[in-house]
Amino acid sequence: MNKFIQKFVPHHPGTYSIMLALCWTAVMALSLVASLSSLRREITTIAGNIAGAYIDKDVLYRNWNALHGGIYVPVNQGLAPNAFYPPSMPDRDVMTPSGRHLTFVNPSYMMRQIYDLSRKDDGITAHITSLKPLNPKNAPSPWEAEGLRAFERGGSEARSVVAEEGTRYMRLMRPLVTEESCLACHAQQGYKLGDIRGGISIRMPMGLLEAGLGKQLKHLALAHAAVWLLGLAGLFAGSLGLRRRTAERDLALQELRRANALLESQATTDPVTGLLNRRRFSELLESAIQESKRYGLPLAVIFFDVDRFKSINDTHGHDAGDSVLKELAVIVSGMIRKTDILARYGGEEFVLVVHNNDGRTARMLAEKIRSRVSRHSFLHVGQVTASFGVARLEPNDTAESLVKRADHAMYSAKHAGRNRVETCCDCNSVAA
Ligand code: GH3
Ligand code: MG
Ligand code: MG
Repeated sequence: MNKFIQKFVPHHPGTYSIMLALCWTAVMALSLVASLSSLRREITTIAGNIAGAYIDKDVLYRNWNALHGGIYVPVNQGLAPNAFYPPSMPDRDVMTPSGRHLTFVNPSYMMRQIYDLSRKDDGITAHITSLKPLNPKNAPSPWEAEGLRAFERGGSEARSVVAEEGTRYMRLMRPLVTEESCLACHAQQGYKLGDIRGGISIRMPMGLLEAGLGKQLKHLALAHAAVWLLGLAGLFAGSLGLRRRTAERDLALQELRRANALLESQATTDPVTGLLNRRRFSELLESAIQESKRYGLPLAVIFFDVDRFKSINDTHGHDAGDSVLKELAVIVSGMIRKTDILARYGGEEFVLVVHNNDGRTARMLAEKIRSRVSRHSFLHVGQVTASFGVARLEPNDTAESLVKRADHAMYSAKHAGRNRVETCCDCNSVAA
């Protein structure tokens, strides 16, 4: 894993799960918002298409009327002759032989009649509008005026959802192009065939389509909530599994560390006395010698061996002998500094490395230990003595030669009668 990932990926399974749950919540919230806005967009598109279909149908009726060059309709309470026809227009009103009064209805007049009817209907209203209306009732609203100006610049449709008097409407307007049938009334305004004369404008309350929207939104939110909860449940289950596996892994790691520590301790410690063993002692002595040579500090080794240990074993038993070794280790450990190195070298032999200590002061320490041991009453055994050999580090010494000289000095002490301390200067005569 690279450093970046290591830095940002949490190590604790709880934090990891919380981060995943937050991400999942954010994804679901985004999905809900996106779905809602897509639903709204879809409804707006449908509303626009419905409004467009209304206009297409109106244009069809209008074309039918235009195809016949206008139609005659009986005059009654609902339909009066069109006051906006120019007086020059012939045959605006005719009487049938049976006495029925008919008036001429051109496409525009017909559409206005229909649009007036539509106002009483389901709320979808339409009308013809123009920037230069003959009939003031056809004057454009601000939204329509803007759309009509856009048509003059080449626009082919104006469509948007607008709020008017607290209600949202789909507004759609398409251009009305001057045709032959329009010229009878509108030529006087300067319009020619093909000119944009105005627009057919429709206004449809969005409430008609949005009535079901609330329900759909509720369903969408519920579906999202269900998926979100399912996801959280899955994450929770996954997090429990992860926690369990992490706990198992931590436990296994702990066991491994404990086993390693035990192995390490077994490899470096003497099981009877708990002191360092000979292998570990040799490693530590090597580094102590190097350090001493580098900083020019004195270093000395004290080698000691229990006197007549064989007869202790023979007299009191092997366990009593072990007990003597343990007590001896405790006594000596209590008399040295933390930086000194005490180890069981073998059998009933011990070795002690004393830092910053030349042969003379090391000899004094050895003497102190010897005296203390000889005055101690060991469990089951009573008095026990030991012989000591001291050697200080010489410039050409290796770990081996230094210990060997201390060992020789110890033998010298044995030869001199035991329970004594000898330094290596006294042991030149001792055979290697
Ligand atoms: P000296 O004064 O010359 O050193 O005589 P010694 O009897 O101490 O020396 P020797 O080498 O003859 O005997 C050492 C004995 O130490 C022999 C061995 O059985 C005993 N020994 C070695 N290791 C252990 C141990 O771990 N526990 C016990 N109880 N005895 C041990
Ligand atoms: Mg001995
Ligand atoms: Mg011995």
